[in-house]
Amino acid sequence: MPDTTQVNINNKAQAQNTYDAIVIGSGISGGWAAKELCELGLKTLVLERGRNIEHIKDYPTATTPIWEFPHRTRMLEKDIKDNPVISQCYAFTEDNAHFFVKDKEHPYVQEKPFTWVRGYQVGGKSIMWGRACQRWSDFSFGGPARMGYAVDWPIRYADVEKWYGHVERFAGICGNKDGVPDIPDGDYLPPFEMNCVEQEMKRKISEKYKDRYMVHGRWAHLTKPNPIHLEQGRGQCQARDLCTRGCPYGGYFSSVSSTLPWAKKTGNLTIRPHSVVHSIIYDEKKGKASGVRIIDANTKESIDYFARIIFVNAAAMNSNLILLNSKSNRFPNGLGNDSGILGKYVAHHNYRGSVNGDYDGPEDKYYFGRNPSQPMIANYRNLGKQDTDFIGGYLTFCGAYRGGANPQGDQIGADYKEALTEPGGWRVFMYMQGEVVPREANHVRLHPDLKDPYGIPQLITSVSYTDNDEKLLKDFLDQSKEMMEAIGCTNVVQHDNKWAPGLDIHEMGGCRMGKDPKTSMLNKWNQLHHCSNVFVTDGACMTSTGNQSPSILYMTLTARAANYAVGEMKKMNL
Ligand SMILES: Cc1cc2nc3c(=O)[nH]c(=O)nc-3n(C[C@H](O)[C@H](O)[C@H](O)COP(=O)(O)OP(=O)(O)OC[C@H]3O[C@@H](n4cnc5c(N)ncnc54)[C@H](O)[C@@H]3O)c2cc1C
Ligand code: SF4
Repeated sequence: MPDTTQVNINNKAQAQNTYDAIVIGSGISGGWAAKELCELGLKTLVLERGRNIEHIKDYPTATTPIWEFPHRTRMLEKDIKDNPVISQCYAFTEDNAHFFVKDKEHPYVQEKPFTWVRGYQVGGKSIMWGRACQRWSDFSFGGPARMGYAVDWPIRYADVEKWYGHVERFAGICGNKDGVPDIPDGDYLPPFEMNCVEQEMKRKISEKYKDRYMVHGRWAHLTKPNPIHLEQGRGQCQARDLCTRGCPYGGYFSSVSSTLPWAKKTGNLTIRPHSVVHSIIYDEKKGKASGVRIIDANTKESIDYFARIIFVNAAAMNSNLILLNSKSNRFPNGLGNDSGILGKYVAHHNYRGSVNGDYDGPEDKYYFGRNPSQPMIANYRNLGKQDTDFIGGYLTFCGAYRGGANPQGDQIGADYKEALTEPGGWRVFMYMQGEVVPREANHVRLHPDLKDPYGIPQLITSVSYTDNDEKLLKDFLDQSKEMMEAIGCTNVVQHDNKWAPGLDIHEMGGCRMGKDPKTSMLNKWNQLHHCSNVFVTDGACMTSTGNQSPSILYMTLTARAANYAVGEMKKMNL
């Protein structure tokens, strides 16, 4: 196995393997790093552990009708048994399974249950993501300072506002401008329409509660593409809601449909798939990182690549793993880890609660297409000050739909078949996206002995809920039931799915931003305090989790950091 303290040098090979910038990971955040760095003129190498995925060509199931799948998209009992972790994910189905990491392929150690959902391919999880995109507000950035947890973020909304716009305009995010304090308005394309019952829900909620706002889904879909989207080769979303298979229209944002091909057009991009990053190489003499060591997934050969700046975008837990595994004399506990914080304060979102009910809505009304977005109720808890017995808040996704027909009587014959073609009654749902407060005890670390198939230490995950999460969950369940009843729903049922951390697929933290190098890893530009040419801009950088869907913030921080990094390279010869 490669010795992490020795650089594998051969002058000719070194010159061939040298770029201006290296980006580790090609998913949502890595794609943005590649786009910005290439546009700014840097010869950029993207190292991706998985196989290549080409937009459209590599979406094998995108247009397959459900009846052509041998099991109508359901997974076999055997696959579920073989994959007790990933089979818990709602999107791991017969039509999508090829985009998810199977349990046995990439083992890790769950000290406490942690459902780690991964997509190892060019595009990462941007291919299968759910696409909800709300902006953070100062209520979220200021939360830790206001309520006394984690550490204060080194940035506020004003620092990222223009970069949100930069990302939204290019990616294409639909939504309405609602003027709601906790989810500031963005640069949006028109929203998907609310159906007739959702409009009723919105009206009744705003009548009863002066501080609760149900708004249109803010989602990464091209409802009305602008020239910049057409230039990317993407077209209008057809509202088919088959997005997690990959979209042949480019109707939703992913790295493979948008940022990576754009970066490629500059002529500055090289993507190297099958490149499992082992560690970042630290040059003790220069006092900065000199490159990245990979294991070729096919040959198991160890190869070094060199660059002036390095962006770490392997998704939060893998970014932690890579940094922890980047050991040198200067950093025996992981790159930049003088504070001992690396791997700690890991957090996620609480998706445990949901509430459902029936609604006596118009039986003669339906809706157009399959709206791939969902309305949402902005967080209304602990905004200005703490007004509950828990810390943090939650955003509520919600909506209404016609259920399936449930004809009574003989389950056979022409009448039964005919009855099945009719939609059932209206159903209303709400589910939560709750803030989880980062704690030192919630951490990841390297296993001292167990290795993965590439000789890299396996990750140990040690993450659990606290009493605060239970109180927040209870509040969501009670408040949502109350809102459902105020709307006029009947048969309202509350449900705690008891999901383990991780299944929310919003892994965050471990390499947090902060003002003080003694209590954080990254400064306000996502730059390692103690290794200035390394930037970590995926979820690992999150100081707290907020209640908003996180990926649009990773993209925003990445674009901002990439532009800063290039400016610094010019000024300070990074
Ligand atoms: C079903 C589903 C629904 C979701 N819904 C939403 C949503 O609605 N809104 C939202 O904001 N987020 C959502 N997410 C989460 C979202 O996908 C992630 O937050 C986002 O993809 C993270 O971006 P990233 O760049 O950090 O990681 P990824 O997109 O996962 O990309 C990381 C890349 O790094 C590569 N990599 C990892 N380790 C290494 C290594 N050692 N060497 C080289 N390459 C490596 C991986 O193969 C991968 O390609 C959802 C995810 C899923 C799966
Ligand atoms: S809903 Fe839109 S983005 Fe999703 S698969 Fe259909 S056309 Fe593509």
